[in-house]
Amino acid sequence: MAPSTSRSGVVAPGAVIGVVGGGQLGRMLAAAAHQLGYRVAVFTGGETDTPAGRVAEYEIAAPFDDAEARRAFVEVSDVVTWEFENVDTVVGDEARAAGLPVRPAPELVRTCQDRRREREMLGEAGVPHAPWSPVSSADEILTWCDMWGGRALVKAARGGYDGKSQQLVDPADPRTVAAAAALCAAGPTIAESVVEFHREVSVVVARSLDGTIVDHGVVVNTHVDGILDTSVTCTDPDLVEAATGLAWQVAAALELVGVACVEMFDTGDGLLVNEIAPRPHNSGHLTIEAAAASQFDQQVRTVCGLPLGDGRCRPAAMAQLLGEVWDSGDPDWSVVLARRGVHLHLYGKSEPRRGRKMGHLTVVGDSPDEALERVTEARRALIAAPRLAPVSP
Ligand code: AMP
Repeated sequence: MAPSTSRSGVVAPGAVIGVVGGGQLGRMLAAAAHQLGYRVAVFTGGETDTPAGRVAEYEIAAPFDDAEARRAFVEVSDVVTWEFENVDTVVGDEARAAGLPVRPAPELVRTCQDRRREREMLGEAGVPHAPWSPVSSADEILTWCDMWGGRALVKAARGGYDGKSQQLVDPADPRTVAAAAALCAAGPTIAESVVEFHREVSVVVARSLDGTIVDHGVVVNTHVDGILDTSVTCTDPDLVEAATGLAWQVAAALELVGVACVEMFDTGDGLLVNEIAPRPHNSGHLTIEAAAASQFDQQVRTVCGLPLGDGRCRPAAMAQLLGEVWDSGDPDWSVVLARRGVHLHLYGKSEPRRGRKMGHLTVVGDSPDEALERVTEARRALIAAPRLAPVSP
């Protein structure tokens, strides 16, 4: 008999976890699910042979607007979760209508996929964030700049990530105003104050069906061209208390059942929440080696109604491997594999495009600084090493 959801909301091992999205987050989620004896179905949104689909029991490689494919996904799944939020959530509504638990709920995903709703929610919950306003024209952007005394960051309300679909506006520079107006013409847009921050931090938090919350502590992040470059665990007790407190507040306000990442700016004078991802996040990758229960373990546990694990992290750091690392050929992986304590993760993507997340390195160290030094040094050595000779066909 097919495994089913018990009255307490528990989805027992053996069941199929349906994952919306086929990327690397789904791939690492599948590894955690398999460890606990679950099976995985991936709904990719169109692509075939995706990072998650390659390791899942089922890969449904069809667009999200394919009603037949949605039916097939719901049919094969016992519970549904998400590895990417910029999707049409109708599949979640349909899964729920068919009686499946959908965790996090589709409404929560809709809140997080629209910067206007997300910021309204933060405002209602009393969570600090940068001043913002919806804008729809160059005039409104200039009025905003006048009102807030300077520059603005104009962001597409939907679909933007990794700094994409954003324009920094200097009211004295008409080109930046025109570029922002073009964003407004393409869809709903917000203007936001430019935050002068000391550092960017994030907290990955898990909340279970019964409202229990566990976090992985705080990580400090650096970005290059809007894309996360490194993450390192943080031991500053004041920052940890403040940032985890805000993340718990967000998880409770959202009535989250699942895992979320809350990204924040540390202004030196307090924290401002920038963005919420209703799923594991690349700033939480280091939890795979640094915590007893990783962010992906916690996603399986929350989605299946199981008790949460211990998410506390040892000092650790992560360095992302983008497509650029392949610029002069296939890297010689022995350079990092031979280093003590360096963990290599490759996402199985065949085409190393610039800016594309292809993998990451993690080091667990004696201190955050030491872990960060070792992981960035390992990446430097990898990039500097002679490339492997191409394999002859
Ligand atoms: P986002 O797509 O909102 O996560 O933004 C990507 C990156 O842009 C962030 O990680 C920050 O480095 C930067 N950024 C976003 N919003 C702001 C802001 N209001 N002020 C300053 N920098 C920002």
